[in-house]
Amino acid sequence: KMSYDNNNIFAKILRGEIPCNKIYEDVFVLSFYDINPQKKIHALIIPKGKYVDLDDFNSNATSEEIVGLIKGITTVAKKLGISVNDGKGYRTLSNIGDYGGQEVPHLHFHLFGGEKLGKMV
Ligand code: AMP
Repeated sequence: KMSYDNNNIFAKILRGEIPCNKIYEDVFVLSFYDINPQKKIHALIIPKGKYVDLDDFNSNATSEEIVGLIKGITTVAKKLGISVNDGKGYRTLSNIGDYGGQEVPHLHFHLFGGEKLGKMV
């Protein structure tokens, strides 16, 4: 199993040691605004469990945790008013590892929206 750094910034947010601008929380996930927004709306969603990245999560999380996180993305999008149901849309992505550009070693999905995003590459 991959080693998880208990002192990463999102672990501290989950423990309530540092604040976040919370959007949504349930038994499986916490969602909050990114501190350095790259688009008009830039949210993050993280699992409550200790998973370094998406591969660690898919290898080691329970099915309930996996469903909870994936469904949580839509819950958050609806809450933010950026879901397709609201006639808009958004982008979600997860950076994985060194080449993926991941900086915080606790799995997170970004949600970008609130404006037309254009092509990513
Ligand atoms: P990544 O490069 O995918 O690991 O993204 C990490 C994201 O976490 C970046 O977009 C940061 O702006 C964001 N971030 C770092 N620290 C905080 C924090 N304390 N609260 C909210 N977002 C943060």
